[in-house]
Amino acid sequence: MLDNRPELPPEIARRRTFAIISHPDAGKTTLTEKFLLFGGAIQMAGQVRAKGEARRTRSDFMAMEKDRGISVSASAMSFDFKEFRFNLVDTPGHSDFSEDTYRTLTAVDAAIMVIDGAKGVESQTQKLFEVCRMRDLPILTFCNKMDRESRDTFEIIDEIQENLAIDVTPASWPIGVGRDFIGCYDILRDRLELMDRADRNKVAESIEINGLDDPKLEQYVPEDQLNTLREELEMARELLPPLDRDAMLEGSLTPIWFGSAINSFGVKELMEGIASYGPQPQIQSAEPRQILPEETKVSGFVFKVQANMDPKHRDRVAFVRMASGHFKRGMKLTHVRTKKPMAISNPVMFLASDRELAEEAWAGDIMGIPNHGQLRIGDTLTEGEALRVTGIPSFAPELLQGVRAGDPLKSKHLEKALMQFAEEGAAKVFKPSIGSGFIVGVVGALQFEVLASRIELEYGLPVRFEASQFTSARWVKGDRQAVDKFVESNKQHISHDHDGDIVYLTRLQWDIDRVARDYPDITLTATKEMM
Ligand code: GDP
Repeated sequence: MLDNRPELPPEIARRRTFAIISHPDAGKTTLTEKFLLFGGAIQMAGQVRAKGEARRTRSDFMAMEKDRGISVSASAMSFDFKEFRFNLVDTPGHSDFSEDTYRTLTAVDAAIMVIDGAKGVESQTQKLFEVCRMRDLPILTFCNKMDRESRDTFEIIDEIQENLAIDVTPASWPIGVGRDFIGCYDILRDRLELMDRADRNKVAESIEINGLDDPKLEQYVPEDQLNTLREELEMARELLPPLDRDAMLEGSLTPIWFGSAINSFGVKELMEGIASYGPQPQIQSAEPRQILPEETKVSGFVFKVQANMDPKHRDRVAFVRMASGHFKRGMKLTHVRTKKPMAISNPVMFLASDRELAEEAWAGDIMGIPNHGQLRIGDTLTEGEALRVTGIPSFAPELLQGVRAGDPLKSKHLEKALMQFAEEGAAKVFKPSIGSGFIVGVVGALQFEVLASRIELEYGLPVRFEASQFTSARWVKGDRQAVDKFVESNKQHISHDHDGDIVYLTRLQWDIDRVARDYPDITLTATKEMM
């Protein structure tokens, strides 16, 4: 991911599309709110949502589902910062929705990693970081809650370097700890940023400083803190790498800012960092060729589908990441999977809590397209060329259960509901070739509960999930003849997913090993590309 490419058109070059990754409670929601506040999208903090998604219980989740307008507007938010357009894509916080998270990260060019200054790198941060690493996403780090007792600065940096195997360079340096925290030294711009504890929505006072020997520092920083700052910064210069933008863009180095989201402190500096160092819209991998953002022809791909936002109309919104060109409302695009033209007449963009008609969109933007189910995750839209965006995976579910309609006469309805959730990416649905009924697969147990509630709420259909004889699912790959032969002699294990692809179901790893041994022409895989 390097920017040593021809210059992009200014409208594209000014776009920064990113997601925030963090462990529950680290401050993602608060930081998002402050982004919007400084982006001018909201007037006062506290309007986004009261709670972090991650801490939602099932009932919170259902309450949110009822008011899906909110969750949708939070899926992708756009706002301006100086001459830049920021597109912030929300990652679902709950670990049960990790597949969704993975796909969200295919739609961004960078991630902001938020950690709690007292807790350091926590489990969910680590997991999400690893997903970013798979894609070599550039990462900018925000160490939050510096207004409270936090760890030693070197210790925090060490922990990131050790646990995540990434180099860290300080963009700012905290002065004082906990109650004595007064602000940061902005290393990138030689400035002193002082935190105002009295007004949480006020931007820090910044004071130009002419290097660390500037006598002006003494006016603002108590002597002992100043001595510590000088010592620590000298040590930091010796021990830590300087900011190297290429290394950051490759994902091998992360700059770290220290701050306090709730006090609006350090947030602006982070935003400036995203603007000056964050990547522009990147090249998109696709077949038979990759897509460059500066191409004049429009293209984009669906990375998320949200259904039944209004239970009365079964409409869905497909979230599309624009990969190239300049889209204008009303354009006819080709839906590559079905080769059909689609007039995109009501696309929406989300400015904080408002949903707006998108008159135009550029490479890097995220657009919501209402539709009746034609658009699925992984679909590509172009101005005619048969391009297919690659790298949007579907993972084998880790939990499988059978599902039954409370009323057996309604099993057709059940099938419809299940197919819809499968297309939305909320679950995997398998139809075994022997017997009746469906097997539903998910990544986390909470998803079964959410599905049951949604089927009841959106289709008026009570359902029961029950233990299944299978525990693992693998997609079957191989040439036609080999697959046919395999299917013929393993009928009791065979099912089809909602795309019609063949899936092998079993409860024994032994079975999977046996297939590898007995059928050298067949591969069983735990992932498939969405298409
Ligand atoms: P999320 O779960 O990551 O979305 O975290 P939230 O933004 O909901 O924050 C979790 C808790 O930490 C809330 O009670 C916030 O008010 C609090 N919090 C967020 N930022 C700061 C901060 O800079 N300092 C302190 N002391 N608390 C904070």
